[in-house]
Amino acid sequence: MSRRPATSGEVLRLVREGVATRADLGRVTGLSRPAVAARVAELLAAGLLTERDGGPSTGGRPPARLEFAATGGAVLVANLGHSRGQIAVCDLAGTVLAEAPADPPPDATPAQILPRVLDQWTDLLTKTAIPPHHVHGAALAIPAAVNSGPPPNEPPVTAPTGAPRPTSAQARHAAPASEPRTNPDKRRGTTPTSDATLGAGALVSAGGTGTNPGGPPGTAPTGDAAFGGGALVSGGEHVSSADRVPGSGFGAEQGGGVGVPGVRGGDPGFGWVVGDVAAAVRERFGVVADVENEANLAALGEHAAGAARGADDVLFVKVSTGIGAALIMGGRLQRGALGAAGEIGHVRVAEGGDVVCRCGGVGCLEAVAGGAALLARSPAADLAGLAALARGGDPAAVALVREAGRRIGTVVADAVNLLNPSLVVLGGDLTAAAEPLLAGVRAAVYERATAVATSRLRIEPSRLGDAAGLRGAAALALRRVLSPDAVDAALSAPRSGKSHSTNAAPED
Ligand SMILES: [Zn+2]
Repeated sequence: MSRRPATSGEVLRLVREGVATRADLGRVTGLSRPAVAARVAELLAAGLLTERDGGPSTGGRPPARLEFAATGGAVLVANLGHSRGQIAVCDLAGTVLAEAPADPPPDATPAQILPRVLDQWTDLLTKTAIPPHHVHGAALAIPAAVNSGPPPNEPPVTAPTGAPRPTSAQARHAAPASEPRTNPDKRRGTTPTSDATLGAGALVSAGGTGTNPGGPPGTAPTGDAAFGGGALVSGGEHVSSADRVPGSGFGAEQGGGVGVPGVRGGDPGFGWVVGDVAAAVRERFGVVADVENEANLAALGEHAAGAARGADDVLFVKVSTGIGAALIMGGRLQRGALGAAGEIGHVRVAEGGDVVCRCGGVGCLEAVAGGAALLARSPAADLAGLAALARGGDPAAVALVREAGRRIGTVVADAVNLLNPSLVVLGGDLTAAAEPLLAGVRAAVYERATAVATSRLRIEPSRLGDAAGLRGAAALALRRVLSPDAVDAALSAPRSGKSHSTNAAPED
């Protein structure tokens, strides 16, 4: 067999997939008993596995059963919307251990928001008594469109705290980094050509803060490689979602970090620079931060644990202040060439007339059916208030939301014809008024989409609501930190009081 021996990271993946005894691990991997024992011992010592008596006995002593220890570490997650958000610390199964609201002032800039997020994470860690070195990774959903450059070759992520960190292996295997896309403002958006410049800027500051392990202290790597640990996420693989065990087939895409500019405009939600976000997280916590668009992460969350669980072809539509969509096809998030896939809020609609949209276009769906447009026609102070009125049966509110649903449905119908999803999930703030919204969307879709495309189509409300973004962020962070490469890198990193890893020893 020419294949290299299974590493400790791969053994962990197998246990997470249900291979629960040392004997089975040996059978599946072909490793010798001592080799299995060495890897299991390493994972036990790292707190990533537990072992207990049990299992079916065949007459003798029952074999001990191995289990993944979700409490063996934590990830930091944040879901930052235009005006609302949540921040949390999750265990390695994605369970929220502590959570706090993140409600930035309406005109707050990313530079003002980010330090607060970092402080809130610190507070939550204190509250949960989780030591900082147990933090393995982070992921943030941001309300901004971003692009990424080419994949980094040698991401200089480091582990300043000395804790196990997924770093170098990820860097080695970094694959095309992708681009988080974001909300509906693609049009005025980012241009790929500016990435290199802006990204490099972000990077310099990262290197300058002394977290650059790739070179002499204080040096700032140049070019894309600099962004390495930076931020990012690679296209396509995200999605695989929590249903697939991280690592199976994803190893190669881990780690790419790319500094990327967000859309820069007057809207306070913009101005995000992925590289800056990642650098700040790395400086404070010593971990890689994945940054992704909020609609994409909400879709990932629904796919991992909500309304889209088990569905591989999903159109997620977020109706909040803006209208955006995320697309999962064949089980993978689809971003398009520049991360602009799913910008349905800026599709021009017949009823849009000459209404000017915040994107600068005219007659956009969002301009007539987005949250701002609806609130302009309602006494409600915000979308939660409008949804409450609709739920309470207020005729005007019901009619307004249903009409918005119908308009959104006309665009969704076209998407359904084009993409043939099996499921459309409606998320966002207006989902609290699910009935009239769903009714409107369904009416338009079933009226306008083809019989074939709608024959097995389901149109459902979000199941996770506000929690979708956090759940998606956790799935994204965990996919990285629990990948075999990342686990192996963490185990082989210097750790206080522990010897280095011996996994992947050539003799077995
Ligand atoms: Zn627009």
